This record gives sequence, C-alpha cells and structure tokens, in this order.
Amino acid sequence: EGYQGGITLISDEPHAPYQRPPLSKEYLAGKCGADWLWYRPADFYKRQNVRLVLGRRAVSIDRNARIVALEDGETVSYESLVLATGCAPRRLPVPGADLPGVCYLRTLADASALRERLRIAKRVVVVGGGFIGLEVAAVLRTQCKHVTVIEAQDRVLPRVVGPIVSQFAHEVHAAHEVQIATGVGVTAIRQNGESLEVVCGERGLYPADVIIVGVGVIPEIALASAAGLTIDNGVSVDEFCRTNDPNIYAIGDCASHPNPIYGRRVRFETVQNAVEQGRAVARTLSGEPTEYAQAAWVWSDQYQYRFQMVGHNDNADETIMRGDPAKGSFAVFYFANGVFIGMNGVNRPAEFAACRRILNRRMPLSAAQAADPTFDLVAYAPLRKRMEFDRPWTQVKRAVSA
Ligand code: NAP
Repeated sequence: EGYQGGITLISDEPHAPYQRPPLSKEYLAGKCGADWLWYRPADFYKRQNVRLVLGRRAVSIDRNARIVALEDGETVSYESLVLATGCAPRRLPVPGADLPGVCYLRTLADASALRERLRIAKRVVVVGGGFIGLEVAAVLRTQCKHVTVIEAQDRVLPRVVGPIVSQFAHEVHAAHEVQIATGVGVTAIRQNGESLEVVCGERGLYPADVIIVGVGVIPEIALASAAGLTIDNGVSVDEFCRTNDPNIYAIGDCASHPNPIYGRRVRFETVQNAVEQGRAVARTLSGEPTEYAQAAWVWSDQYQYRFQMVGHNDNADETIMRGDPAKGSFAVFYFANGVFIGMNGVNRPAEFAACRRILNRRMPLSAAQAADPTFDLVAYAPLRKRMEFDRPWTQVKRAVSA
C-alpha cells in the first residue's frame, strides 16, 4: 500500500509466516512439505523492510511509552501496533488429557509432530467433530487408519453448517468407514499398556494409538487484556479494526468487530477474515482509512467434496435447497425474516461465489429466487474486476509459488 516506514513482525513461533489451512489437509497427508506453506519467499521480508522477530514471545505492552516488551527483555517501540495473536486450542478438561499421544493441531510444529506419531498408529480417536476433526478423519482414512470421531453435540460441524449439511458430512464419513459417535462426552483418557483409551462414561470406551483433540479454540487476549484494552469475546475493535487505544489495532481470530452484514458484534475464526482485516488495516495505516465489512466464509476439503460456507444460519427460519445431496452437489440457502443470511454449498463453487458477492454487496435475494433453479445467481451478482473480496485464496498460494 506504499507504506514507507519500518515494520517489525513478532512471533513466538520460530517460522516466518506460513499458511495454516493445509496443516489439517495436504500437509498432514504428506502431500506437501513445509516449503509449500510459506506465504512469501525468505528474502521478501528484507526487501520490504520488514524485520522478523521469530521464536520470541511478546509479554507486555506499555501503551503510554508505546513499547512492546519481549520475553528476553528486548523492547520494540511502535507508532502503531497490530495484534494478530489468533487463538489457542481449547484443552480437553478431563483426567489423562496430558498423556503422551494426546495431540492438538494448530501450528506447523503440532502438525509435524502429529505426522510423525501417525506413521505407526493404526487406531486414531478424534475428539471433536468440527473442521479439525472431520478434515483429519478424511486424511486418516486415505491412509487406511481405523478412525473414530467423538462429538459432544448431536451432529457434526454444528457450529458452521445447518443440519442438512451436517447429515451429509456424517453420511460421507460413514461411507468411508469412519465411526462417528455424536452426543457423546469424553470423561477421561487412560493408558492401557502401550495404547490409550478414551472413556466416555456409560457411552463406551474407545481404544487408540493416537488421540487428536479438536474441540475448538480460545482467543489469545492475554497481552491485550493486561494492557487494559477492551475485551468482548476477543479483543474489541471498531469498524476500522481499532481497539479503544487509537494506536492499537486487532485483526483475525483474536478480534471481535461490529459487522453491518450481521447487525452485531462478531468474531470470525476464518483465515480469509484474517487476510482481509489485515489488508484493511494496512490501508488505514498507509493513509486510506478502510472499514472492514464482509461476510465470513470458509471452505473445507473432505474426500472428493469441497464444503463452502458463507454468512451464517444462527437464526434461520427458512431453508431452501438446490441440487441433490444424493448426487454430491447441493446448496442450502438460509433466510431469517425473509432476509438472506447465509449459504452452505457442497461442490457448488459458482453459486457459493455468487452468494458471497450477494452478501458482501448487500444485494437482496428472496427465498423464491433461491428456490428457482432457473434464477441465475452468477448473472445476478456478476464478478466485478479488482474487487478485493472476490480475490480467491488461491491467489495467495500462486503468489507464493511465483
Ligand atoms: P470447532 O470447529 O469449533 O469444532 C469443535 C467441535 O468439538 C465443536 O462441535 C464442539 O462442540 C466439539 N467439542 C467441544 N468439546 C468437546 C468434547 N469434550 N468432546 C467432544 N466434542 C467436543 O473447532 P476445531 O475443529 O477444533 O477447529 C479449531 C479452529 O480451527 C476453528 O477456529 C476452525 O474454524 C479452524 N479450522 C478451520 C478449518 C477450515 O476452515 N477448513 C480447518 C481446520 C481448522 P461445542 O460447540 O459444544 O463446544
């Protein structure tokens, strides 16, 4: 964006910025190495006047002096500070959860360690039927492991999709011989000789060589909270991603923002939100104040299916379906009080992209239009060139390989 000042990027991880989405997909499957994950070539940062401070944790912020202190005592001064601290995996709160062989998946280090453990594992229990749980289950089935998924709610993917898509995902995994137990809580994890056991009270006991826990995440707000910044389901920011300190911004999974499309404060756990909020703040700091106002979207690859979700279905009172789950290609549209609020698609990329544009441009869409298969959504919301929110994630990947 033409910013001329110096930039310091501080991370407690030892790596330059990398993409997390492949960690539970291609990287875990061994289809790519770490070199495929870097956002930018190593010399990019130097050329762009970005100083990387890696493997060191920021421990405090002095807002009056505008200084960030690192764990080794070094201090870094700032004019503007951007908190992009993300989330940490929620730990399983049961006895035995710290036994070796109980794994989490968030970082490259987590994924590398897990890949190593899985080499000799035959039976894997996945706790949590969210994105981590189901993506990992799909990878493990391609490696012929015996896989059980245990989900506390009564359906898989309860937070991100409606019941129709949950049912479809459940059936797809069952067809690939994943055992799925829903409505089941884990009460303990035990060692039994060489292997582990996941104890689920009266609902049974599941033996495992490796247990993978994906039971959600918690925003990393400690630094912000200790500095006296407002916290409200994450670091609270305004439409410019600015906290209650005008020199401090927060973006990505750790931040909650007021979103006009949702009509309320929301915190998105999606990579695309982190990327787009980053772009908005970069523009603001480069002299062009830029509001962030987009609908959240995510995708998930499982077997031959691409799940794509945009918006939400929290208060949906009407559901319209196009296509046919039995044919592996369908879209579910959600409405609340007649207003289009979200869409879940399975192998429906064009309709999904059109729905993103409809929500982001705040165009009306009626249930009758969604229900009419001859109503062409792509023609209704055509792609305009050079609109930021139309830029697909794959362009980031292409930029890396270029
Ligand atoms: P998630 O999508 O929030 O799913 C976690 C699931 O585990 C929830 O359904 C949760 O139910 C359930 N759960 C909680 N406690 C449990 C327990 N004790 N036993 C069994 N189930 C339990 O989180 P995740 O799968 O761990 O993913 C972590 C983060 O990575 C999320 O932000 C996710 O969006 C992100 N991620 C995204 C992708 C993608 O976009 N494709 C892929 C991988 C990861 P409750 O709702 O009751 O807590």
